[in-house]
Amino acid sequence: MTKNQLKKMPFIQNVDLAEKKVIVRLDLNVPVKDGKITNFERINGAKQTLNYLMSNNCKIIILSHFSRIKSVDDINSGKKSLKLVVDTLKQMYPKMNFIFVKDSYDKKLPAMVNKMTRKDILVLENTRYNDVDVKTGKVVKLESKNDPKLAKFWASLADVFVNDAFATIHRGHASNAGIAKYIKKSCIGFLVYQELEQISKFNSDNAKPIVSIVGGAKISDKIILLEKLMKMSNQVLIGGGMAFTFLKALGVNVGASKVEKEMFGVARKLYHKYQDKIVLPIDALVANKFEDVKPILTNFEKIKKDQMCLDIGFKSLKQFLRVIKQGQTFFWNGPTGVFEFKNFSNSTKHIAKAIAKQTTDFSVYSLIGGGDTAAAACKFAKKDDFSWVSTGGGATLSVIQGDKLPGLAKIK
Ligand code: AMP
Repeated sequence: MTKNQLKKMPFIQNVDLAEKKVIVRLDLNVPVKDGKITNFERINGAKQTLNYLMSNNCKIIILSHFSRIKSVDDINSGKKSLKLVVDTLKQMYPKMNFIFVKDSYDKKLPAMVNKMTRKDILVLENTRYNDVDVKTGKVVKLESKNDPKLAKFWASLADVFVNDAFATIHRGHASNAGIAKYIKKSCIGFLVYQELEQISKFNSDNAKPIVSIVGGAKISDKIILLEKLMKMSNQVLIGGGMAFTFLKALGVNVGASKVEKEMFGVARKLYHKYQDKIVLPIDALVANKFEDVKPILTNFEKIKKDQMCLDIGFKSLKQFLRVIKQGQTFFWNGPTGVFEFKNFSNSTKHIAKAIAKQTTDFSVYSLIGGGDTAAAACKFAKKDDFSWVSTGGGATLSVIQGDKLPGLAKIK
């Protein structure tokens, strides 16, 4: 999305919201471990829009998905219920009365909305519960396939629709594209605006050299992104699991590393087309099982048959850091090693610190995108040390790639 396209999007501050009934789509899909929320970024990201709606005395109806729903068990287990998030919202806003609605398609909802006071905020259960029919157990995907009846029902609850769920703008679901189609007025919220604004900064004229760092498990998830980054960057540093697919495709010995054979052709093509920009690892930290064991540093020719590369080696890291030191603009997506294992987090940690240092020391622009990468960046450096840490995974990549964004298409 260009800056001009963004300027044309209806924005929350340009819509008359005073005293209106507002249905707002947020992304409250937070990570949970052992029944506890482990990261509050997404809830925090929703606060500016929520505060603004409260200051406008709106009657607020909140919609969000929470993980995927594929079976009745997913619903019955209660593990994917938004209830947990509602408890956090109650603590954040003790003066407001949050009412959790267990069935987001309940025919009694319009009456409930009419009875709301300005202190009440309705939070409807996980929108994706509508993807499975609880009575028959059938997967019906009313939310994910943008069912018009469900979308019309949600649209009928309010005067205005605010879409502030950035992480789902690359999807056309009933709770974003659907509501926007059937409601008279709709706009984007603060988070969606800021995300688009920041990512468009990376997509526009930038100071050179532009350095992209890509990693993560697979090439197959990121082919279009890789092409785009190769075109727009001066240097592309490739780490993570995908680096070993590239290397294997080029005939390098990578032992028992996880590689995508079906991507060898793509990898070779990309490499030969953009050879002058690509930096691949020259050594690796290996192990003979996919576990957090003591790492062995080795050159590729010495890797044994049963050893797998779980991080790039020290010489490779040195090379990567040398390039980062020269960089004036950065995009980073994908950890360069299995950073969840302490013994294989070395390169990801140093890359996070190096990008953060360039950003703070020289005021260069750095964009961090993708769930795992954002987590790694904030673990090894401070969030504020980067220009922007995107809350989106696939959505961030879609904006960079210049894809159509069905979740925003009907906003009017
Ligand atoms: P993605 O979501 O594609 O960015 O992938 C992130 C995942 O890639 C993380 O969970 C990492 O542990 C994993 N990863 C990074 N390096 C490797 C590697 N060398 N082998 C296997 N997985 C890796």
